[in-house]
Amino acid sequence: MSTIAAISTGNAPGGIGVIRISGDNAVKIADSVFECSDKSSLAELGGYRAKYGHIVIDGEQQDDAVVLVFRSPRSYTGEDVAEISVHGGMLSVQKTLDAVLKAGAVPAGAGEFTKRAFINGKMDLTQAESVADIISAQGEAELRASYSALQGRLSKSINAVLEKLLDVSSTMAAWVDYPDEEIPELEQNELVKTLEFCKAELESLLSNYDKGQTIRTGVDTVIAGRPNVGKSSLMNMLTGTDKSIVTHIEGTTRDIVEENVRLGSIVLHLKDTAGLRESGDIVENIGIEKAYKAIEDAQLVLAVFDSSAGLTDEDRKLIDSCSGKLAVAVINKTDLENKADTAIIENAFDSVVYISAKNDEGLDRLEETVCGLLGVADFDSTAPLLANSRQKQHCENALASVCEALDGAALGITYDAINVMIDAAADELLSLTGKKANAEVVNSIFSKFCVGK
Ligand code: GDP
Repeated sequence: MSTIAAISTGNAPGGIGVIRISGDNAVKIADSVFECSDKSSLAELGGYRAKYGHIVIDGEQQDDAVVLVFRSPRSYTGEDVAEISVHGGMLSVQKTLDAVLKAGAVPAGAGEFTKRAFINGKMDLTQAESVADIISAQGEAELRASYSALQGRLSKSINAVLEKLLDVSSTMAAWVDYPDEEIPELEQNELVKTLEFCKAELESLLSNYDKGQTIRTGVDTVIAGRPNVGKSSLMNMLTGTDKSIVTHIEGTTRDIVEENVRLGSIVLHLKDTAGLRESGDIVENIGIEKAYKAIEDAQLVLAVFDSSAGLTDEDRKLIDSCSGKLAVAVINKTDLENKADTAIIENAFDSVVYISAKNDEGLDRLEETVCGLLGVADFDSTAPLLANSRQKQHCENALASVCEALDGAALGITYDAINVMIDAAADELLSLTGKKANAEVVNSIFSKFCVGK
């Protein structure tokens, strides 16, 4: 296989930039652009060893560098790997990569290092997918869940089910194929017990999927309320910045301001909308229309009310538009005297939180309430978790076949017919972990990675 190279650090100036090279000639190619300060050659270097020196291009020292060598099979890809760290100015990193390519490496495709790790058996497909998830993780729980998958927790629970299925399948096949041999028949209740175990395991994986997706992908959230209730102030409290303009002139937030914020273990994709009220101003009216549309589309609404003023028609309209939606009533300005009829709000919403955005009070309660409402408050992010719809689909198909086999067993159909269903379930799980995935699926998974990963 060819020796590949790419920049593995981000596409921006940084303290250090890393060029990763993987393949049979990785160390030789690194050696040809690098001069060790002790004049030794990298070829003599064992795995997990580093050398300090310089990048030399066309006989000229270009930058200081450290080269780290990994020897096959003890590397990320399973091949020989050299990682060259230079100063992270884009030019120095790019020139080093160019020199490495000139010395015989070929540019790595998207996700090619991880793909090679998969092909060389360093990780299965669920672990490879978790690498992409770790890179894109924004929330703490998402990162923990992805890392747990990388450590193989998902593979382990899938493989436990798979082992049981393959075990019954081979016993049944032997018994069906060699009736004359002394192979003890699989007891019906043993078979049912095993299938019940597989069913329970798969069901538990699937039941956690939705919560996991909430954690992974974040929640589209809208902050809504009439002008001046404190929407922008709440946005600022959540973001800790001043992206939303806070002002006491009504209707200043005319369009929608968007921001991703971390609230406890989850990420909210926040939209701060225009104040909801009747207006003669065309621009403002377009903003208000967008605000109602945003409420309709949102997964979660933070409906803000002003406790220091009586409820208005706009407030009541907002209450109505939240009905049937996942919504939290946020009653703001608790530092002022309460003049609002909060009982109406308490009646209309299951979740009500009192805050003072001005004094930065109530964020903890809001976090607790939102996480509780989304069902992620007691979420165990270290438990095995299906990461995407591909994995979910295979798990669902496997479960369907296991249930079919259970029904078949209850009806007393023949073992060879049941075995077909068990094999189908096993096949789905083999596809899930990648032991049986076809090349197209594998290519499509790695094409979503960035170059250098
Ligand atoms: P929006 O129009 O709903 O986005 O409201 P803003 O966030 O712009 O706030 C409107 C006014 O209310 C500003 O003058 C804020 O300083 C003030 N305000 C916001 N939150 C609070 C609060 O908790 N207490 C008090 N006393 N004033 C607040």
